[in-house]
Amino acid sequence: IPSIKDSDVVHVIHVTAEMAPIAKVGGLGDVVTGLARACLSRGHSVDIMLPFYQCIQKHQIQDLALTTTFNSYHDGNWIPSNAYRGVVSGIPVVLIEPSNEFFKGQQVYGGSYNELEAYLFFSRACLEWMQVTGTQPDVIHVHEWQTGALPLFYWDMYQHLSLKKPRMVFTIHNMEHYGECRQEQLNKSGLDGSVYATTDKAVDDRTIGHNPERLSLLKGGIVYSNAVVTVSPTYLKETLCSGWLASTLITHRDKYFGVLNGIDTAMWNPATDVFLPAKFRAQNMEGKKVCKYYVQRGLGLASESIEAGNHMSDVTLRVPLVVCITRLVHQKGLHLITHAIKRVAELGGQMVVLGKASDVRVEGEFKRLADTHNQGPNIRILLLYSEELSHMLYAAADIVLVPSIYEPCGLSQMIGMRYGAVPVVRKTGGLADTVFDLDDQSNQNMANGFVFEGIDEGSLNSALDRAFAYYRDTEPREWNDIVRKVLDIDNSWHNMAEKYIEVYNSVKVRA
Ligand code: ADP
Repeated sequence: IPSIKDSDVVHVIHVTAEMAPIAKVGGLGDVVTGLARACLSRGHSVDIMLPFYQCIQKHQIQDLALTTTFNSYHDGNWIPSNAYRGVVSGIPVVLIEPSNEFFKGQQVYGGSYNELEAYLFFSRACLEWMQVTGTQPDVIHVHEWQTGALPLFYWDMYQHLSLKKPRMVFTIHNMEHYGECRQEQLNKSGLDGSVYATTDKAVDDRTIGHNPERLSLLKGGIVYSNAVVTVSPTYLKETLCSGWLASTLITHRDKYFGVLNGIDTAMWNPATDVFLPAKFRAQNMEGKKVCKYYVQRGLGLASESIEAGNHMSDVTLRVPLVVCITRLVHQKGLHLITHAIKRVAELGGQMVVLGKASDVRVEGEFKRLADTHNQGPNIRILLLYSEELSHMLYAAADIVLVPSIYEPCGLSQMIGMRYGAVPVVRKTGGLADTVFDLDDQSNQNMANGFVFEGIDEGSLNSALDRAFAYYRDTEPREWNDIVRKVLDIDNSWHNMAEKYIEVYNSVKVRA
């Protein structure tokens, strides 16, 4: 990596609700940490500000120290707040701890305080902290609805005070999270809510004449930022063509960019992964077999070497193992996941689902499936969140399944490939930007998996059946060639961070 001139250094402060590993719920946490690290390693200056959730484990933060005590406004009062500094995964962090009930509880989300008001408070408190400490980055990078109001506070309040230099970049990780907010709640944070109650500001275009009370912090963030990024080029196109924000995004097309997320290739590295019983790499894939055997034995699945004892021929031994690691929510294609379980069983393969449901009905449905299948030799449905198990499953998998209805970017298919699992995905969003069908003769260079388009079961079968046929009917060498190819694909932040830096530079105010 070339060193950069002082004048080219960009100072970015991320303001976010999540950061891996200390406060990670989903992909957002991974993205913030991965992007920050990649920019730091290029010589830029990066800080991450996040709420000091009570559930954050302090021992995961190096050099943690209380550095500033300041007040920030909420509902008629100035709330004394502490700012701590520390280092997480090599990244400087600033943690904001208000003295009221905000961010208390055992989890990142879902505490007993008002979440919307807490994030409004946090967004303003970060600017207040910058003002109090005289910190003026080139870019304040906000993420999702939680910090979507920060650009409003900035342009309508803090620019009139002492903050002048920062420009706003906003990343939308998932358009479905609306950030619904009433005028009165903005009033509580010190803004005049009525100012934003028009469709050119924060009122959803679809609610004209219905409910000017219903503002969206996501939309406000888009309107008030200097640049808006979403997490893949295809999702960018999809969101311009349909969806509740299409007309807003078309209006702001000139400042709207699609930058694919990367994965953290240090954390996700089969050659060094401490969770794996054996390591492997594209040049030597023996360890992957060990991982598969280990997982099969560990989960009580029929395993290949045991069958070998029964003198089965080498061909029948080839049982493909499919994994699906996901939040169990509608977006992820629940009916396709349940169908895949059935189809894999019919095809005589093996499948492990590692998933967590937040909805009790969905959980019930998958529990019933688990009861039906988990005693058998080929299917396991594990309803829990486990980072460790996810590493082992990706490493063991022959196929990683991602049948999402929509998928802004998707990390699972990229992580799977990094561990030599061939992806079977629905062609949507970031999945369409990272997986290319092996049967598409026009694109053999990029071809790396199996893709289907429809949301019906037949469409899924068309891709899954082809993957199984490829695995079983070709020479093992041919399958291994694909595995080697996916292992070698570079989905790291390496290239993507450069694209973000271009966006930062396009908004940065030059001295
Ligand atoms: P999303 O952000 O919509 O949840 P992504 O594919 O972008 O989807 O990121 C999901 C991340 O969370 C991946 O790193 C995946 O491995 C991980 N993950 C999802 N469910 C689980 C689970 N039950 N246990 C462990 N890791 C999980």
